[in-house]
Amino acid sequence: MTPSTDRNQQLFDRARRIIPGGVNSPVRAFRAVGGTPRFVQRAEGAYFWDADGRRHIDYIGSWGPMILGHGHPAVVEAVQRAVREGFSFGAPTEREIELAEAIAAVLPGLEMVRLVSSGTEAAMSVIRLARGATGRSKLVKFEGCYHGHADALLVKAGSGLATFGNPTSAGVPPEVVQHTLVLEYNNLPQLEEAFALHGPDIACLMIEAIAGNMNFVRADTAFIRRCRELCTQHGALLAFDEVMTGFRVGLGGAQAHYAAQIPGFRPDLTVLGKVIGGGMPLAAFGGPRAIMEQLAPLGPVYQAGTLSGNPVATACGLATLREVTKPGFYEALAARTRSLVDGLAGAAKAEGIPFCADSEGGMFGFFLLPQLPRNYGQVMQTEGARFNALFHGLLDRGVYIAPALYEAGFVSAAHSEQDIADTVAAAREVFATLA
Ligand code: PMP
Repeated sequence: MTPSTDRNQQLFDRARRIIPGGVNSPVRAFRAVGGTPRFVQRAEGAYFWDADGRRHIDYIGSWGPMILGHGHPAVVEAVQRAVREGFSFGAPTEREIELAEAIAAVLPGLEMVRLVSSGTEAAMSVIRLARGATGRSKLVKFEGCYHGHADALLVKAGSGLATFGNPTSAGVPPEVVQHTLVLEYNNLPQLEEAFALHGPDIACLMIEAIAGNMNFVRADTAFIRRCRELCTQHGALLAFDEVMTGFRVGLGGAQAHYAAQIPGFRPDLTVLGKVIGGGMPLAAFGGPRAIMEQLAPLGPVYQAGTLSGNPVATACGLATLREVTKPGFYEALAARTRSLVDGLAGAAKAEGIPFCADSEGGMFGFFLLPQLPRNYGQVMQTEGARFNALFHGLLDRGVYIAPALYEAGFVSAAHSEQDIADTVAAAREVFATLA
């Protein structure tokens, strides 16, 4: 047990008296791994310092946005300049156009972009837009993919494909998820069956093509190809949720990765967040002009936001995108990330621990399993107690990974070779205790 003289513990105790669970987003509470969450005092580059002044190598990076590391000078300067000009106007600004143009410049399917403030809002809006544009109600999503906490998406699979999902949260009436069909990730026969049964009623299929909410699981190329074909054939819209993967797995996101393998591949709609805001509340969605023009004020699909396109957030996002679009950025980031996962795999092997890992660009996942899982059920076969021991062993050694085995990890451009070597050395010590 952490002693109560620990300042993190004192803050956690105080937080729990006023904030439910002591946190403003559940995974921060260390519920799965146990122990005391670290309260962040400040952060710089690849590190943050907790309330006890202890330094941690940060592999969460705000769950993805901090791709340049914390406090990148060009971003800090852009934000400071923007703050001096004003915090929020509720009237349009030039920076919103610049950011929308910067996003559209690298994602060829985005003829038009709308800015919002969170990934949840972006995914929720895409669903309304898809329903409005198609005049249909049904949604397809996959077990283990997270698209934010809109009611229609907090759903688990029903008992069969003829029945729709059940809510995963109290407060979501069953009627609200009755149009959401939850399928197993990478399960082609089930996908075929779903479209055979419900094709004419499906408005939208939403997927994390490189899924970061079940640690790190790639959709097979054949699976994505078939998602595209079935959506086209049945008049449903294919939505890629790239909140995590956008500007993270590479400049063109997961869709560029699949387009490299499937000639002409493109989703209809794309959901973005995290990196495009550089750590500020900012997200976006976009797609073809004819669909995006269905949105208010042009069309009948309502969507709005007091803080949408916030001038400080757009400055932060633009400065971030300016850095990541420099030549060689993703090559260097991918190599650094690859050296981390290879190092961890080597350390596990040396200690005889079943282990496998994968990465794309600056996003990675690893499993205490002999082979890479292909769906959520396989991910959850990981022995929880073992993962928790690894998590706490690393935390004690100043390495901060996600406090849950179903979350991905993130490397930033600020992580040095030395940081990676220190992480691998720490992991090897912990693996030795698990062997
Ligand atoms: N989609 C994906 C793929 C995500 O990873 C997340 C958040 N982790 C969301 C949507 C929701 O974004 P937000 O937390 O900004 O609402």
